[in-house]
Amino acid sequence: MIQTITLPVPWELKSVNVHLVELDEGFMLIDSGVATEECFQVLESALAERGVKWTDVRTLLLTHYHPDHIGLSWRILELSGARLVMHRADVAYLAELTRGNGVPYYAHAMRIGGVPTELAEEMERALRGNRPAFRTHHPHQTLDGGETLAVRGGTLQVISTPGHTPGHVCLYSPEHRTLISGDHVLQNITPNIAWHPSQDMLATYLASLDLLLPYEIDLVIPSHGAPFEDHRAVIRGTAEHHEERCGTILEHIARTPMTAHELTLAMWSRGLSAFHHNFAVFEILAHLEYMSRRGQIASQTRSDGAIAWTRKLD
Ligand SMILES: [Zn+2]
Ligand SMILES: [Zn+2]
Repeated sequence: MIQTITLPVPWELKSVNVHLVELDEGFMLIDSGVATEECFQVLESALAERGVKWTDVRTLLLTHYHPDHIGLSWRILELSGARLVMHRADVAYLAELTRGNGVPYYAHAMRIGGVPTELAEEMERALRGNRPAFRTHHPHQTLDGGETLAVRGGTLQVISTPGHTPGHVCLYSPEHRTLISGDHVLQNITPNIAWHPSQDMLATYLASLDLLLPYEIDLVIPSHGAPFEDHRAVIRGTAEHHEERCGTILEHIARTPMTAHELTLAMWSRGLSAFHHNFAVFEILAHLEYMSRRGQIASQTRSDGAIAWTRKLD
């Protein structure tokens, strides 16, 4: 029922999977790949090999707003005239990114994270240079989670799994006991969890992982890497990874107060490119937010607005 097509990505991830599902009339394409000519050509020939024309794609569903998933969506919508389906929260967040030409609270995050101004500027340039500009989407159907989509020979249930992005969705086929997991559950790599102001994204993500535990799933088809079994073991491993990361942070700040930037330098001692320093700082900020809300750490704001954290003694 689900045909997966692997597309090339010019970043470290190397590839992204998109999925083709037959409808009573035509097909649903799940995710679109990156906005490169190479990616487009690979997708177009994979569809042609299956006898699928662009106009046969009646629905385009996007699991979340990241560039490796939505990059080609505008081009595909134009070629196919397909209906666009996307979660409400990611539609709203994408609109925010488009309006602000990037993360609207970027400067704030860099300041509280204690990232030196020059490096923060270099990091932002790297982000813009490595990624196409965001553009708003106006879906024909916005999802909230809980919807059942009819496909040929079965259904796909939409599961709202916020955390990796505010509106990430997974799709579950009860007939085939298969989960299309997007970037929510991945094997061998852990999805990036980024800090958002006044939200506890790590807690949200961990709750979305727990949500999948009761499902009867024989096969998980992720967006990156090969399909795998035993989703419960992978979920356990992912939750443990975040617990360990919290533990490492606590060790680092046991005696000396540290900012998110200082923690990033300490924890990625091999050094990171300006591009990757972004993801690391936002990930550390998400972990600090999580531990702060659980009363494990205390903060001190420095004169430049940077927040340094120390472990609370119980
Ligand atoms: Zn993603
Ligand atoms: Zn991805």
